[in-house]
Amino acid sequence: MCTANAYDVLIVGQGAAAFAAALYAARYQIRPVVIGETFGGETATGGVIENYPGYPEIDGFDLMLKFREQADKYEVPVLDDKVVGLESVDGHYTARTFSGEAYAGSSVLLAVGRERRKLGLEHEEEWTGKGVSFCSTCDAPLHRGNVVAVVGGGDAAVKGAVLLTRYARKVYVIYRGSRFTRPEPANLRALEEAGNAEMLFDTNVVALQGGDGLSSIMLDRERDGSTELDVHGIFLEIGADPRAELAVQLGVALNERDEVVVDRRMRTNVPGVFAAGDVTDASGELKQTITAAAQGALAAATAYEYVSEHNEACKWHAASLPEGAK
Ligand SMILES: Cc1cc2nc3c(=O)[nH]c(=O)nc-3n(C[C@H](O)[C@H](O)[C@H](O)COP(=O)(O)OP(=O)(O)OC[C@H]3O[C@@H](n4cnc5c(N)ncnc54)[C@H](O)[C@@H]3O)c2cc1C
Repeated sequence: MCTANAYDVLIVGQGAAAFAAALYAARYQIRPVVIGETFGGETATGGVIENYPGYPEIDGFDLMLKFREQADKYEVPVLDDKVVGLESVDGHYTARTFSGEAYAGSSVLLAVGRERRKLGLEHEEEWTGKGVSFCSTCDAPLHRGNVVAVVGGGDAAVKGAVLLTRYARKVYVIYRGSRFTRPEPANLRALEEAGNAEMLFDTNVVALQGGDGLSSIMLDRERDGSTELDVHGIFLEIGADPRAELAVQLGVALNERDEVVVDRRMRTNVPGVFAAGDVTDASGELKQTITAAAQGALAAATAYEYVSEHNEACKWHAASLPEGAK
């Protein structure tokens, strides 16, 4: 019997994996709750998405609104909150949140994604919003006519740089490697064709300089006879690390990259704990919205089996489903 604040599956996250899981869990008629800190996750701030099937071109935020809309159709509760602690007692789980609430669940589905990496330089935190940015989609329009640098060599870096070329006068792409190997060729071509981007390979940023905000960066290699480069903004796209803290609290096994290890059905090593999306080792290098969503669906299906087998499901009655959603 379900009571208030008690659910079959506690879905942690509000990104593609979480909403896909919520949709599938609801359609399996187990009772999910979505508890997530930031609506839409990385997809919502990832800019224009051109590789999500069914949408030739859609803003990531709008795509996530559609995910949310579909979960809303099944009246899945979606809570804007951060889970700060997860504990397990006799196979039952409790999530404690930043706002002081506690939620009980027969199972947990971790869809918490990854945390952007930082360079670890002085002023990096202090000048976030004052020239230092981790989100080109959010901040590119602020740099109309400016000179900016993007640090990184992955697809997110190149995609961000392409967007910036549409606003900034000049975009430096600074990468410690000697050539790009990871970006999608289509994005790389768009960057090369932009005409106002310059790649600085084998180069690292070693200092951020300025007064009350960024005005230049120091490189570990000369460009045009100087290691100082005047920029109005720097965009850090140097990868991300899995948000593994909650998994660790539950004794979930991680791999050498701190990704949650899941099997093909998104089970972790802890019974009743499932995981999906970028926090896991499931999609290797192809961490994308479509793979996260697919894993969310799989994880919900496995969670359904788990709660059914354990005879713990506080199943929704079919009658509670909205018309047309049965
Ligand atoms: C700049 C950029 C551009 C991209 N472009 C594309 C693209 O064009 N196409 C594509 O397919 N993919 C793209 N991606 C990748 C895509 O965004 C990710 O693969 C996808 O968002 C992963 O979804 P997820 O649900 O696993 O995690 P996320 O989207 O990261 O969502 C994680 C969620 O968990 C929440 N959370 C974290 N910790 C807690 C906690 N303790 N309590 C509660 N909630 C928590 C977060 O707030 C967030 O809501 C891009 C990524 C970036 C960074």
